[in-house]
Amino acid sequence: MPTFPPVSEEVLRRYDVPAPRYTSYPTVPAWTEAVGPAALAAALHRASQTPAAPLSTYVHIPFCRERCTFCGCNVVVTRSRDKADRYIETLTREMDTVARHLGDRRSLSQIHWGGGTPTFLDERQIETLWTAITDRFRVLPNAEVAIEIDPVVTSRSQLEVLRQLGFNRISVGVQDLDPVVQKAIDRVQSVEETRAALDHARALGFKGINFDLIYGLPHQTPKTWQRTLEQVLEMRPDRLAVYSFAFVPEVRPNQKRLAVAGIPRAYEKLELFRLAWEALTGAGYQQIGMDHFAVPEDELAQAQSKRALGRNFQGYTVQAATEVVAFGASAISDIGGIYAQSPHGLPRYEEAVNRGELAVERGIQLTADDLQRRAIISQLMCNFWVDLRGVPGYERELSRLAGPELEGLARVRGREIELTPLGRIFVRNVATVFDAYLERQEQSFSRTV
Ligand code: SF4
Repeated sequence: MPTFPPVSEEVLRRYDVPAPRYTSYPTVPAWTEAVGPAALAAALHRASQTPAAPLSTYVHIPFCRERCTFCGCNVVVTRSRDKADRYIETLTREMDTVARHLGDRRSLSQIHWGGGTPTFLDERQIETLWTAITDRFRVLPNAEVAIEIDPVVTSRSQLEVLRQLGFNRISVGVQDLDPVVQKAIDRVQSVEETRAALDHARALGFKGINFDLIYGLPHQTPKTWQRTLEQVLEMRPDRLAVYSFAFVPEVRPNQKRLAVAGIPRAYEKLELFRLAWEALTGAGYQQIGMDHFAVPEDELAQAQSKRALGRNFQGYTVQAATEVVAFGASAISDIGGIYAQSPHGLPRYEEAVNRGELAVERGIQLTADDLQRRAIISQLMCNFWVDLRGVPGYERELSRLAGPELEGLARVRGREIELTPLGRIFVRNVATVFDAYLERQEQSFSRTV
C-alpha cells in the first residue's frame, strides 16, 4: 500500500503558505483593465490565422437556486426561468460576435459547461443552448463534451437529453456526504441522490465520471471524512478531485455565515488530505496533478504516466486544444496570446454583449517570458516533472530548488526537475519558484494545504 510522505510540523509551517493554484499564469492579480475588447479582437484575429486548429470552449451558466455558504464561484441566485432564457439569448449573441472574429476557426475538441449550476437549465433550454453552439461551431467527432452537475437539481430526463446531444463527460458536485457537514455548508445531498446520478450517468454511457470532494470544511473530522471516503469508494467514480477548502470570507462574503470555530486548520486539514490520499491510492487510484485522482485505466491517468497530461481552466485534459474561447459572465478566454475575462456581474456582461461588443473586463497580454514560464509551471502541476534542457536561463530557479529553502520537494538532476512525493503535495510551492510576478503581488491567495 502506498504511504503518504511524512510531513513534520516544521515542514508544514514552512510550506503551508498562501500560494496561487496556477489555473492561469500569470495569475489573476497581475491582470488589468488594459486588456479590453480591442485586445480580444486582435487576439481572436491572430487565432483565426490557424483555421484548422481545434479550440476548447467554456460556457459559464451562473444560476443556482440557493447560495451554498462555502461556495467560491461566481453565481446568481434565482428561481426565474425567464432569466435563464434571456441569458441564453445573450450567450448566443456573444457567440455570434466572437465567431465573426474567429473567421473559419470553428472546430471544437473540448466543450465544458460550468457554473453555477448548468443543470439549472431545463431540457428545452439545454437544447437551445446546445443548438446555438453547434450552429456556429463544429464539434469534432472525438470531442470531450463535459458538464458539471448537482445531483439534487438534475433530473433523469436532463441527463438523457445531455447524453443524446453528445455530452460524454460529467462532473458531480459531492463535497462531503456527512449530514452535519452538509448542513453547515447549506448543501444537503443524500448518498442515495449521489449514487442515483452516478448510476444513471453510467447507464447512459458517460465516461470519465468525476466527483468533486472538498476537505477542510466546517465540522469535518477524520472519522466523518473517512466515512465519506468509504461511501465514495463504494461508488468508484473514474476521477476524483479533492480540493482544499479555500476559506476567504473577505473575498467571498457568503462564507461569513460559516461557523469559523468548526473549520479544520493546518495540521488537521493536512490530516484530512492524508486520509483521502491513502484511501484513494490504496484503492488503486493514481494521483494526477495537484489534487486529482483517477483510476489507472482512465485517460488522464494514462496521459500522466506518459508525462503528457495537460491543463486549462476546465481542469486536467488530454485534448490537444490549448486555446480556450469562453462565453458567459466572468468566463475566461485564453486565446491568441492573451487571457481575457468578461464582466462578473450579469447586468454589465449583458449590456456589453447587447451593445455588440466583445465582453471583456480585464486580462493580460502574455509576453514570451510569460509563455515559457506558463509551460514550465503547467508541466510541474500536471506531470510533477519538467526538463529544462534546451531552455536557456532559469539558473536562479534551479539553484533555489536544489537549495535548503525548498529542501525535500524536488530532485534536481542537471536541468531536469522531478518532484518528490512531498513535493507533489506542495507542488504549488515549487511552482512559485518560476512565478516572476509573485514578489510584486500583495494579493491574498489561499494556503497550499
Ligand atoms: S456550490 Fe455549486 S450549487 Fe452551491 S452556490 Fe456554489 S455553484 Fe451554486
